[in-house]
This record gives sequence, C-alpha cells and structure tokens, in this order.
Amino acid sequence: TAKTSSNQASPVSINIPLVAAAMQAVSGIEMGKALACSGGIAFIYCSQEVNEQTRMIKEIKNFRPQENELGKDKDKESHNQNHLLDNSGKLFVGAAINTHDYRERVPALVEEGNVDLLLIDSSDGHCFFQKDTIKWINARYPTLPLITGNIITGDGFNYLVNAGANAVKVGMGNGSICITQEEKGTGRGQATALMEVIAARNDYYSKNGIYIPIISDGGITSDRDIIIALALGADAVMMGRYFARCKESPTEPVEINNKMMKPYWGEGSTRARLWREARYQQSVFDEGIEGYIDSIGSVYEILPPTLAKIKSAISTVGAAGLREFQSMARIELMSPFAQKEGRVHNVLCSPQ
Ligand code: IMP
Repeated sequence: TAKTSSNQASPVSINIPLVAAAMQAVSGIEMGKALACSGGIAFIYCSQEVNEQTRMIKEIKNFRPQENELGKDKDKESHNQNHLLDNSGKLFVGAAINTHDYRERVPALVEEGNVDLLLIDSSDGHCFFQKDTIKWINARYPTLPLITGNIITGDGFNYLVNAGANAVKVGMGNGSICITQEEKGTGRGQATALMEVIAARNDYYSKNGIYIPIISDGGITSDRDIIIALALGADAVMMGRYFARCKESPTEPVEINNKMMKPYWGEGSTRARLWREARYQQSVFDEGIEGYIDSIGSVYEILPPTLAKIKSAISTVGAAGLREFQSMARIELMSPFAQKEGRVHNVLCSPQ
C-alpha cells in the first residue's frame, strides 16, 4: 500500500515471495508460464539476442492456461488459484536487461513484448553504468517498474534508489554456481548484506515514506534459508538452482550414475559468457561454474511444500502475513552447540 518509488511506476505485488533467476539454465518460456501461474515471476534472461528474448516474452504473455468448463481435468496451470496477471488478464512476466545494449533491448521488450517489469542484471550494481541505465529508462518509460542491483551495502542501496530504482536486489558471491569470492575476493555473507541493506531501506522509508522492496538473490540451499531471508526483512527471494532442477527449466535431463540430473551453469561461466564475449569482447575470466543438479519434478510439485513451510513459520511467530513476519521475527546468533542440538542427533536414521 505504501508509495513505492521515486518514479511513477505503480507498486507490483506478487502472490508468493519467490522469483526465478535471470539465467539461461533457469528462466525460459516454460518457467515464465509456471512462475506466473504460481503467483511469482520469472525473469527471462538477457544473455541472448534481443529478438529472441522479446519472442519469449510474447509467447508467455500470449499463453492462456486452459480452463475446463466441466471443472475437471483441469491442467496444472489453471488449477492453481494464485495466477499473477497484468491489467489485461495476461500472465505477468519480467525480463532481465544489461547496462550495454539497453537502448536497443528495452524498447523491444516494452513496446513489442509488453513486458511487465524489468530487472537490471549485474553482479555489481553500485556503479555509474547502472545509474545511467536507470535514468535512461525512467526518462522514457516512467511508469515501468524497475528492479536494480545487485548490491550488498547500505551505500549501494541509497545510490540505486536515489538514481530512481523501484526495488533493489541483494547478493554478491553467494550463488550455488558462483566463484566470485574465490576468484576475486569480493562479496559478502548474505545475511550480513541483507541486514545492512534492510536497515538502509527502513531508514529510507521512515524519512521519505517510500517503501523499496528488497529481493534476496542466491545461495538458497533449503526452504529454511528462504524463511531466514524473509525474516531478515527481504520481500522476495530469487532462486536459480531451486528452479533449475524442475522440468520447466530450459535444459534436458541427463543420466549420471543412474540418477537423472539437469545441467546448471552460471551466467558468468564459460558456457554463458561465450555469448557476451562475442558481443562485447569483454571478460577474460570466469565467475561461475558449469555443473549438474538433481532433476526433480515440476514447479507445481516443489512449490506447495515450500510455501506451506513459509506459512507455518509466519504463524509460529504469531504474524498475520509477511510484512508482520518481517518485524516480529527475532534473529539471533546460535552457538555451535545450539546448531548441533537443532539437527537430528543421537538417532540412527531409518534407510529411506
Ligand atoms: P542460486 O539460487 O544459489 O543458484 O543462485 C542464483 C544466483 O546466482 C543468480 O540469481 C545470480 O544472482 C547469481 N549468479 C548467476 N550466475 C552467476 C555466475 O556465473 N557467477 C556468480 N553468480 C552468479
């Protein structure tokens, strides 16, 4: 309900606090449909040609989940009540852009693709390039909501918000495929980064009455981590690996050691970088790896238990919803003894 931006974009509210990462191995057409049908958002990756990304956006926006008038045999998409739709009733979809070709990419995505939300995809958003990109977009598309990042400090938050960001994404060096910290020594523990940025966000809100949503990006190893990020004050959590495992991600499963797995690679890995290199002749080292992760079922199968745990944790602290959860949840350090106590102990687990 609060005013959310220094430009004129209307607030975007999503039905679940989960979004899919802007990565080649995660967010293609099927992920875009599945996330919107589940109440979240997928950000179609920008490490591809402008016309190809625009085509993907169009295909998602033109998709109509089948409704069966008899009320049975409904497909999974129409069965879900959480659909996130635009004002004309079409699925809601986001797109990533970069700070190089935005003058060409943004008009195509917005005017041809009717994209709902843009995300400036960068591992370091606290820089002039991002400020210039924000200013350029806000001058031409003042009502288009814009997420910026990534940053890991309060200064980074203020820099982007003062430049005109509607929402800010936090995380550096914490992704499952990320080698940024190993290669460059840059990055920050995600909880530490979130705590500082959220303090800056709350301060900004109390001074200006403008609420800037924060997205915690990367490093989720289990549902527990999602809940901790939300408890720290994040409004949504972006995940790559979590969604890349699903059948809706754009990769084919492969059999490795009698197990079905899916390829998963970073946007800064050699595999994804080849595209950028051909286009920008930049970057001579990798910041991500290429690997495999367990192939699991569909987005429609993995989301319900995750969402049930989030709701249950919200209820445990006595909160009525996410906003209240953020202010009521208490965060404290646990000793190594308490951490050990919090896991299964002194029991031989039955074989699965
Ligand atoms: P995950 O959910 O832990 O797999 O992390 C996904 C996040 O990692 C993405 O949303 C990006 O912010 C980040 N990321 C994607 N590709 C790379 C990379 O190549 N190097 C470092 N970070 C990356």
